[in-house]
Amino acid sequence: MELISLGIIALVACVLGYFKWSDGRNNPVSPHTWQYCPWCRGNLVMGEIGGKHRKKCTLCKFVHWDNPRPVAVVLIPTTDGRIVLIKRLIPPRVGMFALPGGYVEPNELPEAGAVREAKEETGMDVVIDRLLFVTMPPNVNEILFFYLAKPTDALPTTGDGEAEAAIYARDAIPAEIAFSTHRQVIDQFLAAGK
Ligand SMILES: [Zn+2]
Repeated sequence: MELISLGIIALVACVLGYFKWSDGRNNPVSPHTWQYCPWCRGNLVMGEIGGKHRKKCTLCKFVHWDNPRPVAVVLIPTTDGRIVLIKRLIPPRVGMFALPGGYVEPNELPEAGAVREAKEETGMDVVIDRLLFVTMPPNVNEILFFYLAKPTDALPTTGDGEAEAAIYARDAIPAEIAFSTHRQVIDQFLAAGK
């Protein structure tokens, strides 16, 4: 009898679980796990479109193109020759140092995003000098725009709660930088001696 009771409980749990997760809602975190069309809630299936396998809707014309996300990153040498880094206070790589930067906002040029991120993460007002480097990090669907910027303030003042500003002499940059692309750009900049 006990086994039968357990079986019934398990069956009810499965049915409830099925209804809970099959109500046409996607996991908001990762589009790669989406099962349902965000336009019409039809089922998504893999199909070949434009020579690549992509998720598409079985009912409407929705296609998950999976375009890369643009990220603006900014390298700020201070007027006294040091470099502004931020200590990351949110995942990923909490506690590690990186260049200030973040996702470009809607209707924002990457250059404007770099200025905004510098302000948000370091409290500094900067003007863009030039685009340094554009790259894609390994296994991450992002395009990184690295800008060289000049500070209009003397030194960083504050962070936005997601990052803590710090400045380092060129010969004392922390060995562990959160992202290999940031390390690469810092090293190239220092090697150029500018
Ligand atoms: Zn659809």
